Amino acid sequence: FGGFRRTSERLTDNLTGLFTRSTLDRQTLDEIEEALIVSDLGPATAARVRDRLEDQRFERGLDEAGVRQVVSDEIVKVLGPVAAPLEIDAFPRPQVILVIGVNGSGKTTTIAKLARLFLEQDYGVMLAAGDTFRAAAIGQLKVWAERIGVPIMAGPEGGDAAGIVWDAVKQATATGIDVLIVDTAGRLQNKRELMDELAKIRRVLGRLNPQAPHDVVLVLDATTGQNALNQIEVFKEVAGVTGLVMTKLDGTARGGVLVAAAEKFGLPIHAIGVGEGMDDLKPFDPAELAEAIAG
Ligand code: GDP
Repeated sequence: FGGFRRTSERLTDNLTGLFTRSTLDRQTLDEIEEALIVSDLGPATAARVRDRLEDQRFERGLDEAGVRQVVSDEIVKVLGPVAAPLEIDAFPRPQVILVIGVNGSGKTTTIAKLARLFLEQDYGVMLAAGDTFRAAAIGQLKVWAERIGVPIMAGPEGGDAAGIVWDAVKQATATGIDVLIVDTAGRLQNKRELMDELAKIRRVLGRLNPQAPHDVVLVLDATTGQNALNQIEVFKEVAGVTGLVMTKLDGTARGGVLVAAAEKFGLPIHAIGVGEGMDDLKPFDPAELAEAIAG
């Protein structure tokens, strides 16, 4: 399954040694549970897998394929309900999508990928460079906008992010844009300032359209493992999160963190990033991830 290969290898490594045993005794169950936790699946899912294996062991004994099937089933049960692509259904237009996340999470790249996705669905797309704190962020977003062929509203470094967003909504409305994707600063080191800035963007948006922002999408780097869970917690508090995109699932052994995130927060997972290119965004498919994790 392409991008998920390493996720799969890791849990497979953790589990495989256990299958040389002939019985699913308490120690083996402990070790399976531990292997699932080490793979970032989260304690609740690991405990449920253990319970189900315990229920079944008298009937079936220890059978590698059976164990993997139980793991896969439990993962699908957790992830199935949260898999939800971003729908463009705002009226009036434009639908405003705020994209938030710490620097380096893949925020800018994900904005470009989302823009591509919506363009392919024949929506008119515009970007707004609301991360005015970093000159590089503005420059990078401009490069993506040009490469993809979408308009962008940007100002100078250190400019007023809310002002950019105001101008962007005005222009998007005037030109019949369907989707406005807004980049934001990712300075989690300065929570107070970030919170104020995001609140100001929200106020400005709300004045133009009480429903905006329609979506607040948090971008998370899967390679940060459990740290991603802390980021959800903090961003929920400072920004109000409506959904997630998990990036870098091509280069990580930590796809399991999606399960832990779904278990803990129940937020919609819109898509996953599986590479650095603008087409490397995939719809989130719980069965595929479950199979990749369970091996
Ligand atoms: P930002 O600081 O959050 O805006 O992050 P960027 O979009 O600049 O991404 C940071 C780095 O991660 C860049 O080198 C991107 O090419 C890379 N990146 C982003 N998404 C993915 C992904 O899904 N897979 C991989 N392998 N790299 C990614």
